Amino acid sequence: MTSTSESPASLGRNLIEGRWQAAASGETIACFNPSSGSQIGSAPASSAADVDRAVSAARRSFESGAWTARAPNWRAQILQKVAALIDQQADEIAQLETRDNGMPITLARALVATGAETFRYFSGWCTKIRGETVQISAPGDFHAYTLREPAGVAALITPWNVPFTMACNKIATALTAGCSAILKPAEETPLSALMLGDILMQAGVPEGVINIVCGRGNVAGAALAAHPDVDKISFTGSTDVGRKIVVAAAGNLKRVSLELGGKSPVLVFPDADLDQAAAGIARGIFSNSGQACIAGSRIFVHQKIHDELAARLAVIARQMKVGDGFEAGVNLGPLISQRQLDRVSGLVAEGVRDGSQVIVGGNRPDRPGYFFEPTILTAPRPGARILREEIFGPVANLIPFTDIDDVVRQANDTQYGLAAAIWTRDIGIAHRLARRVKAGNIWLNCQLVVDRSMAFGGYKQSGWGRENGLEGLEAFLQTKSVYAAL
Ligand code: NAP
Ligand code: MG
Repeated sequence: MTSTSESPASLGRNLIEGRWQAAASGETIACFNPSSGSQIGSAPASSAADVDRAVSAARRSFESGAWTARAPNWRAQILQKVAALIDQQADEIAQLETRDNGMPITLARALVATGAETFRYFSGWCTKIRGETVQISAPGDFHAYTLREPAGVAALITPWNVPFTMACNKIATALTAGCSAILKPAEETPLSALMLGDILMQAGVPEGVINIVCGRGNVAGAALAAHPDVDKISFTGSTDVGRKIVVAAAGNLKRVSLELGGKSPVLVFPDADLDQAAAGIARGIFSNSGQACIAGSRIFVHQKIHDELAARLAVIARQMKVGDGFEAGVNLGPLISQRQLDRVSGLVAEGVRDGSQVIVGGNRPDRPGYFFEPTILTAPRPGARILREEIFGPVANLIPFTDIDDVVRQANDTQYGLAAAIWTRDIGIAHRLARRVKAGNIWLNCQLVVDRSMAFGGYKQSGWGRENGLEGLEAFLQTKSVYAAL
């Protein structure tokens, strides 16, 4: 199909079989700018009927071979075209992302560039998917080999914290594997995904291969997760909804990948470079206003340097500018919604009741929008809710330690296992702790580094499977074993 000159985002339609369509019911959900609370657009409130149409379209395109049977180098070229179109429209996408999600425009621009890079990275894999020939021992003479085939029709469900990034990751991986897919973006931030849908059509992705269905998680998301004609589901979101996805997927035993929550520990030793550590730790908890599954929210600091690190973090936090993502020099935009603001302020208040003292922040600035100050608290009583639950806001606790075994035990004392950071100049301690901390991503003297050529995912209840890299691609592939008697 040809692209419309008017932005599809403003049209607020679903993308089904290459056409922009309203929900069957005609219902819409308003989209708000969290910096002001004002409405900026709307998206369809899709029902099971819309999901069903999108799944049928994906199935038809998959079985037709319009994408999956085409030459790998042709598919690679299309993905590269997607990347180039994202680059061309980067400013428009970044502005839309900042309006819909609230993030600083500098962050939005960086993440849009990252999205293009993801398509470029995965385009390289299109021509490198391969099976094996295997020497087998079964009696007789055989030519035995494996084929790597796409998982089929994939459902992709994403959260609101980095909407464009998530849409790019999941769609690029599904397309590289040769799957057809249906994306259900977060209800709070559907707009940049719709722009991506327009770009996919402009780049020549065949109709029906990627469909985008907006709507509520418990309606459209649930219908996708339970749909009997969906083969695979890739979900990013909260651990609670992840559990629901597993239950819904059980009906037809869909293959399930889950990227869920985190409560990532940061361990700071007395020999650490404190300038670098303080800057890295502040970025690790305050980036995107803490609305990051990999945010370092439990900061274990050696007793000897506790007060020094607390003072440095306070200085950095006070210098940070909280405001509308379009204001120059803003470091922290708003939280996504009133609900999220209530949750974050509620957890901070409860932490204080549980014995935490506020080192810096702790309040919402006096202005419209869902803003919260960058906040560092001292340790509450062990086991307090603020130490156990993911906050998804710019809030961390500083917890003193003296003993290395004890701090490893505390770092691992969580249901989550997404990421961890270790700050020390002692390479022995650094690499030993990299082994002992139970998390899918370990940062030594850095934080928040995520590269699409490295597997990304969680231990324990932070998820199932991995995204990114070859392992991420393999989550969208399945293996067929072929025995040919000679
Ligand atoms: P969420 O409530 O779990 O929602 C994620 C997505 O699932 C949204 O599209 C949501 O739709 C949908 N959904 C909700 N209920 C559903 C159901 N019953 N069936 C199917 N889909 C359903 O998470 P969120 O609040 O948007 O995002 C924050 C969470 O995401 C945090 O816990 C964070 O840690 C996690 N996260 C993890 C990663 C990672 O890679 N590990 C990355 C980013 C975020 P609605 O928008 O309508 O609710
Ligand atoms: Mg919004």
